Amino acid sequence: MARTGPQTQTGKIRLLGRNRAALEQFAAGRGQPPYRGRQLARWIYARGACDFASMTDLPALWRAQLDEEAEVGRATVARTQRSRDGTAKLLLELQDGQRVETVLLPYEDRTSVCISTQVGCPVGCTFCATATMGLIRNLDAGEIVEQVLAGREHAPSRSGPSVTHVVVMGMGEPLLNYEPLVAAVRLLHDEMGLSYRHLTVSTAGYIPGILQLAEEGLPITLALSLHAPDDALRAELIPMARRYPVQELMDAMQEYTRKTSRRVSLEYLLLADVNDTEPHARALARLLRGTITHVNLIPWNPVASFSQFQAPSSARVRRFRQVLERAGIAVTQRAERGQDIDAACGQLVIKEGVRREAPPIPINTLAGSHV
Ligand code: SF4
Repeated sequence: MARTGPQTQTGKIRLLGRNRAALEQFAAGRGQPPYRGRQLARWIYARGACDFASMTDLPALWRAQLDEEAEVGRATVARTQRSRDGTAKLLLELQDGQRVETVLLPYEDRTSVCISTQVGCPVGCTFCATATMGLIRNLDAGEIVEQVLAGREHAPSRSGPSVTHVVVMGMGEPLLNYEPLVAAVRLLHDEMGLSYRHLTVSTAGYIPGILQLAEEGLPITLALSLHAPDDALRAELIPMARRYPVQELMDAMQEYTRKTSRRVSLEYLLLADVNDTEPHARALARLLRGTITHVNLIPWNPVASFSQFQAPSSARVRRFRQVLERAGIAVTQRAERGQDIDAACGQLVIKEGVRREAPPIPINTLAGSHV
């Protein structure tokens, strides 16, 4: 059963985050036939209902009973910012007052939503705005899924099916919030009709999570943030990398591909003079020799508070790409979106209203001895 998340502020039972079987069980426990649970699932996930009053095909008496003891439990959208390029950044205020950011990316042929899995993040990547928050708390499955619901409601209506792709690349390291992540992925597929092949989970390289995900039988895309071809540089950029050597990551990646038949996509953030030189490109090409992979180059987005990093020149980006392509590696370059509203990769951070009731959780207490 999907996790139901924290106690609601009203003390009512929160239904968002429960899957169809759990909602059938919920209905049966109240003397209703199981199909009433399926109706609830349809209203909550397919139609995006926020309250029981709008569930017009449920009997009035059952709706009143539901209202007494339960709630859908949606967050509120506290702020919406739209970029010149159509990207929208939504600030969601969760039931306990914590806030997360969700980014909606409309393209010609599809609409993607980039969602968060944690409030803040414990990984501490030196280039990432979210890292400055530390980890405030994990999101539950309902809180992960409702970002897609909110994205769907804010998607431009002209684009056919409103949200077609979901990338789990927002705030947080998804694989350090494993069970809610997997429950949310199943809800997105089973209840919201998204294809597994259109779901991408991005990790900074938490190997135990990669291997666990490979066993789930979910044909989703895994994106691995590599950002450096060797252990020393990677550990400078991603502190967690000290525990997970690059070669072991490559092995985990191959294992993921073997088990799921899905190619792993490698994300490589280009930081001027840090990891964007020709020797870095050659080292990366050597590392990837013989693997079936695809590299997505992401030129650094300037963030005011990260003055130690500079955007790479376009000549450097071009050269880096050429070296990889000449080595037979498939390369794409991420088109930057939403920079004017701080919605681009690495720019998500809650600047105000963070409620920190406890000190940030140290990373080495999060997942046993793995991290
Ligand atoms: S880049 Fe990702 S994993 Fe690293 S600190 Fe930022 S949100 Fe966390």
